[in-house]
Amino acid sequence: MSDKDCLFCKIIAGEIPSEKVYEDDATYAFKDINPKAKVHVLIVPRKHYANVAELAKEDPAQLAHMAEVAQKIADQEFHGAFRLIFNTGIDAGQTVFHVHAHVLTGEKLDE
Ligand code: AMP
Ligand code: ZN
Repeated sequence: MSDKDCLFCKIIAGEIPSEKVYEDDATYAFKDINPKAKVHVLIVPRKHYANVAELAKEDPAQLAHMAEVAQKIADQEFHGAFRLIFNTGIDAGQTVFHVHAHVLTGEKLDE
C-alpha cells in the first residue's frame, strides 16, 4: 500500500481527524477509535513503514523512541504500567500497514 492510500498517513497529515495524545517531529500518537483498554493509544512514526520489522531495520532509534513515548503516556495515564503491541501481518491481526504501536494502559490489564 502506498502512502497516498494509507489511513495513518492521512491521520498524520490531518486529512482525517484524530484525538491527539502526543506529537514531536518524528512521532504522532492518537486514541484508538475502538479502544481495547481504558486507555488505548496508537503511536506512529510520521514516516511510512509497513511494519515493526521494517522500522527496526530502517530506523531503530525511532522504534526505541516509540517505547519511550509509550512510557511517557503510561506515566501520565496510569502509574507507568503499559502493554505495547505491534500486530505484524494479516494473520496476526494487522489491518493498517503503517507501523503502529498499540499502547494499552489506564487500568490493570488481564494477563
Ligand atoms: P491493527 O489491527 O493492529 O492494524 O490496528 C489498527 C488499529 O487502528 C485498530 O485498533 C483500529 O481500531 C484503529 N483505527 C482504525 N481507524 C482508526 C481511526 N480513524 N482513528 C483511530 N484509530 C483507528
Ligand atoms: Zn502511512
